[in-house]
Amino acid sequence: MRCPYCNDETEVLRTGKITPDGMRRKRECKGCGIRFGTLEIAEQLTFRVRKRKNEVVLFDDQKLLASILSAARKRPLADNTAVLAGLIDDVSDDIRDRGGVIDAADLGDLVCARLRWVDPIAYVRYATIHKRIDDIPGLRAELDRLDGT
Ligand SMILES: [Zn+2]
Repeated sequence: MRCPYCNDETEVLRTGKITPDGMRRKRECKGCGIRFGTLEIAEQLTFRVRKRKNEVVLFDDQKLLASILSAARKRPLADNTAVLAGLIDDVSDDIRDRGGVIDAADLGDLVCARLRWVDPIAYVRYATIHKRIDDIPGLRAELDRLDGT
């Protein structure tokens, strides 16, 4: 990593010591010579989704992306990789904020709330498929519910 003081290269003086807080390392800057410690914290990258009947499965961002892409078929959104990646990132951040586990229904809500602003048509398709909305009153109720949150 770069020196936080002068941005020059640093080298590890002492390799990791695992402490209850995380992995600690001592570094020295090759430029200004300052020594500092770093603390490496493992970030949980595997999230879980709680389905109905309390069945828990691993969150699969590729699967989520595929389901959004299928809802965005022939829409400009399908080619907008930056927006799609941002959407997946946002959803992942939300799951992380919740401690790494999310209810499938909440996950659907997160995706719908974002899709609605990004692409209303993709949103309606996603909601009808993944929330099993199969009539206009159901869709209207869904829209009202999202407006309320
Ligand atoms: Zn330095």
